[in-house]
Amino acid sequence: MDSSSERQMKLATNSIRETQILAPYAMHSCDSRGRQFLESEHPYRGPFQRDRDRILHSSAYRRLSGKMQVFTGRMGDYHRTRLTHTQEVATIARTIGRALRLNEDLVEALALMHDIGHPPYGHAGEDALDEVAHDVGGFSHNQFALTIVQVLEIRSSDTPGLNLTHEVLEGQTARVDKQAKGPRPLLEVQLVDASDSTTYDAHDTDDAVKLGLVTLEEMAEVPLIASCLAFVHSKYSQLNAKQLRKAVVHRLIDCQVTDMLAHCGQELARHDFQSAGEATQSDFIIGPSPELAAQKTELEFFLHQRVYRHADLVTVRRDAQQRIKSMYEAFLDDPAKLSPKHQDRANMVGLRRAVVEFIAGMTDHYCEELYHRLFD
Ligand code: MG
Repeated sequence: MDSSSERQMKLATNSIRETQILAPYAMHSCDSRGRQFLESEHPYRGPFQRDRDRILHSSAYRRLSGKMQVFTGRMGDYHRTRLTHTQEVATIARTIGRALRLNEDLVEALALMHDIGHPPYGHAGEDALDEVAHDVGGFSHNQFALTIVQVLEIRSSDTPGLNLTHEVLEGQTARVDKQAKGPRPLLEVQLVDASDSTTYDAHDTDDAVKLGLVTLEEMAEVPLIASCLAFVHSKYSQLNAKQLRKAVVHRLIDCQVTDMLAHCGQELARHDFQSAGEATQSDFIIGPSPELAAQKTELEFFLHQRVYRHADLVTVRRDAQQRIKSMYEAFLDDPAKLSPKHQDRANMVGLRRAVVEFIAGMTDHYCEELYHRLFD
């Protein structure tokens, strides 16, 4: 363990750099409340940078590559997985965070973590698990993310979980109940939430058109898509269908990011917050301008009606839920079929919760394979 002076020196190195580049309203790592289990500071990586690395190297993060975002692996290999969605969120959040002089390391750690608790089969899987587990507290992927990083991931034999900083854990906790009363979460936490919707509004449009569930012409009934199309047509002529789709999606990201930067930049200048804490006490929230927020709502309504409820996805959803519910019952009937780790876990949290956690940790493919092993 560092002596107190060593610790101060390492923190000071990071803090000088941050003082030079971060705004006063950013979360400076020298003000971090630290970790539950005290650790030596790293010689050249700050605390939030270490958190980001711990999340990136976790098993749950890697498994996101095998978990669907909206469309399953059976529908092709173009569309986003939960992992590529996460990377896009991190990239967009970092771009905005850098321009607003927020703490990019914290932004990236929060972004990489934000969907780490997703079960197989996206929200269909989550709903099925929530239903079977209703009498033991239900299931929420945001809550499960905390269980993963605080308990289930193994990093060292000294401490449970990843021993992340309080700020990263609190950021994820804020996702569990977004209506919770009290101060707002840090600006970095708000930014990741806003970037999540920026990202999926754009990539779900891209994936849905690419998969042929809707056409761009049909989507042009949404004013935001119509304005992106008009912009692209004014700039380029003679694009083929693929080039047009790509150009519209690029524009969709660009106009959302540009709008958020202009709106938040203005508001942050007006408020002139002198600390991260002061910003959390205010009504200001990082997000799009009211005008763009209204346009995004229209786009999201269209996506809900025409894409997420598309007949192809309804079938995927129904099959996935049936599979998860049957597996849940099978593991309850015969706990010896659980992994050794989850048999141990059942002694701590009860069998039902352990079964939910076991299923929630699976990739789509593993879930399907295990289902066939259990029932064929
Ligand atoms: Mg997400």
